[in-house]
Amino acid sequence: MVSRLEIDAKKGTNPALAASIRRWAAEALERRGALPAPPRLCITIWKSSEELTSFYKQEKKELNVVTGDETDFLATHEAWRGFPRIHVCQEKVKEVSPAVLRGVLHHEIGHALHHGSPEFYTFRFSSNLQEAGNACGLELPLLQQCVYFLSVAVKDYEVVKWLAATGLGDGQAALVEYMIEDTEQEREVWEMVREDTAPRKIVLASLLKTVLSIEAVISGGKENAQGLLDKWEKAYSWLIERERLGLIRFARLNSELEGKTFQERLEETTLGLLTDRSL
Ligand SMILES: [Zn+2]
Repeated sequence: MVSRLEIDAKKGTNPALAASIRRWAAEALERRGALPAPPRLCITIWKSSEELTSFYKQEKKELNVVTGDETDFLATHEAWRGFPRIHVCQEKVKEVSPAVLRGVLHHEIGHALHHGSPEFYTFRFSSNLQEAGNACGLELPLLQQCVYFLSVAVKDYEVVKWLAATGLGDGQAALVEYMIEDTEQEREVWEMVREDTAPRKIVLASLLKTVLSIEAVISGGKENAQGLLDKWEKAYSWLIERERLGLIRFARLNSELEGKTFQERLEETTLGLLTDRSL
């Protein structure tokens, strides 16, 4: 067990939610095995999106951190102060089923155990990478956006595979199904960018999060996981077949990068996506 699991439930949050969150977090922490335990792990339950947003704004300013926007996620994690912190917003999760929320907590604990130090939140932009970016019309700010999405996908692969392999694949399958329930907004963005290489690569990078998670559920050995991929194909039926198959093929290739460091995997994944002519 970690030496300290702190639950910081802010004023006005539901105690029953805090109790469930503690239980689900412990469920994943128990499967830690040989993974080193962080000395401290803090889960904050925020009452509203505003409170969470203003916390992030303040922390980023104080610590000089630049990242993407956190507001799209059911829960978030970071290690900016040298130990893993998880944030859940009550307002955002109130319509979410317990099965999905359980998957969310497992997932975030997986990040805390696998990605609990600052190195996973800073990225190198080698000249190789910048050249490949330029060739696609991605100047540094856009390349950063692309790398940010891919960093999420690469880290998710690792976490989901670990959870599936330790017997907690159900929660991750529920979470993936939840994420692909409504793809309308993505479809609208895709229609706008599909003919334009630079933004197209960025959207593809964002789509890889769920494809890599599904690939991880399957390769982690969860039973009947193949059905998830069928659901994904159905949810993204607005992509043409070549694009869908391209993403799946890319996710499979990516799963072969295990054993390399996070920075190496991230760089190879980004180079792979930028230079893949079929995507
Ligand atoms: Zn994640």
